Amino acid sequence: MRLVTFAEPPEAPTEPAEPWRSSDLWRVGVVVGDEVVDLTDTEVGLPGDMIELLVGGEGAMERAAQAPGTGARRLPLQQVQLLAPVPRPPKVLAIGLNYPAHITETGRERPEHQLWFNKQRTCVIGTGQPIEIPLVSEEVDYEGELAFVIGRPARRVPAEDAMSVIAGFTVMNDVSVRDWQWRAPTWTLGKSFDTHGPVGPWIVTRDEVPDPHHLGLRTWVNDELRQDGRTDDMIFKVSEMVEVLSTACTLEPGDVITTGTPPGVGVGFDPPRWLVPGDTVRVEIEGIGTLENPVVGPGDTAR
Ligand code: ZN
Repeated sequence: MRLVTFAEPPEAPTEPAEPWRSSDLWRVGVVVGDEVVDLTDTEVGLPGDMIELLVGGEGAMERAAQAPGTGARRLPLQQVQLLAPVPRPPKVLAIGLNYPAHITETGRERPEHQLWFNKQRTCVIGTGQPIEIPLVSEEVDYEGELAFVIGRPARRVPAEDAMSVIAGFTVMNDVSVRDWQWRAPTWTLGKSFDTHGPVGPWIVTRDEVPDPHHLGLRTWVNDELRQDGRTDDMIFKVSEMVEVLSTACTLEPGDVITTGTPPGVGVGFDPPRWLVPGDTVRVEIEGIGTLENPVVGPGDTAR
């Protein structure tokens, strides 16, 4: 199942008036072909908020799976605005330096332990929404990554049980402002600029991803292929990430966790190749989907 959050009509705001709340104009749907089945239709009766849907557990997922067979209304995908599948995740956690060839291109040392940092939840945008170059830096870079979404509260989950707490997988672009990232050991601010967390286009439920470590991952800037990796090469695997993270903190439904980037990022070139206004970044993961975002200059969006 491919689960989406969408705004309808398409000109509906992609930002709620109060960013800490969901917008009433947002709905949750399941994608079938080039249509989206509205799960808030009374025939299905599910909530319009992805986190609430995930909290509904297996019962809600079964109803969502059956929705295409009901009379629930369908809308052409082209007539809705897709948002990030979880527009305001409770947490966005990202692992750094998780592909050997990416470590080499950055000139860093291979970490002994999983290296985690936060992206602030306010940076999340959906496919099609613009990545903004900030006023304070030109060193803006892309990182195509496989991400997963937590489906139920998880605390002290051993690696062998990890898949049971994952709702599904999606695509993330871990946009990074390199000078801000490296001026502080936590990387936090350089990873958290508004619009620098594109996620989407949907969540592919875990039953449809038999092996998250056997997927091709490609990133294009405009029509130039920059990253051509495989998730097979991850140093720390998804299940090990869940074990370590949930040892420290409770993972909550809707948390987005991104698993690191293969080689080919802009800073790996000599000279570095930063994103500039007018570019388009497209991240494609086999069996998951394609996340595409235009790049705009400072102040070109309402944010
Ligand atoms: Zn990253």
